[in-house]
Amino acid sequence: MPVPLPTLTVAGLTVVVRRSGRRRTLALEVRGGVVTAHAPTQLPEAAIRAFVEAKSGWLAQHLERQAQAASAPPAPAPGDGSVVFFMGEPLTLRVVSDLLRPERVGDDLRLPAADPAGLAAQVRAWRRAATPEPYKRLVRDFATQLGALDRLGTVQVSDTRSRWGSCTARGDIRLHWALSAAPLPVLEYVALHEAAHLLELNHSPRYWAHVARLRPGHREQRAWLRTHGAELLSPG
Ligand SMILES: [Zn+2]
Repeated sequence: MPVPLPTLTVAGLTVVVRRSGRRRTLALEVRGGVVTAHAPTQLPEAAIRAFVEAKSGWLAQHLERQAQAASAPPAPAPGDGSVVFFMGEPLTLRVVSDLLRPERVGDDLRLPAADPAGLAAQVRAWRRAATPEPYKRLVRDFATQLGALDRLGTVQVSDTRSRWGSCTARGDIRLHWALSAAPLPVLEYVALHEAAHLLELNHSPRYWAHVARLRPGHREQRAWLRTHGAELLSPG
């Protein structure tokens, strides 16, 4: 008879705990609205609680997105009061008359009411313009942690539908502007993915070891991109 798996309640979230002697690291998975912690057999419960606690914001965002993807019609058009995510932060759209161009004020993204391009196009244009600086910081930060800052060339924002990021042999890195709408760990994973190519311009086990050293849960982020990546690019 199957034994029910133990669960923890952390920060208002119910987490199923699956332990395995083969695991070396702790990883969280969100699937079908259920959060599962995959943990090494001996890992103390307190360590699992602390990890879930640290990731609770991201988990809540992830669950919310899954619930939306499961129930709601795809990507409702944004309107006054809609929330969009930028670099992991929620911004509230405010439609303002007498405004010439989009501007962020605190946690508000103010958009001109008169722009005939429509709100979704305005948000995309603002996103593209706002991403270069934080993307540069993010990539430089990972290149520094990898000890590869001296190999880094330029960091630019890309618009290539087929790729989230790229790194050339000269060390020039590009990240897609739409990733700024993804949960921050996903954007961070892509930035790290490209920065790790400064050390290994391939996907060899040595390459993945660099990625796993800084982001042991990178498989979750790749899974998220496979499932939700297209939503980032859909208009609205
Ligand atoms: Zn790659």
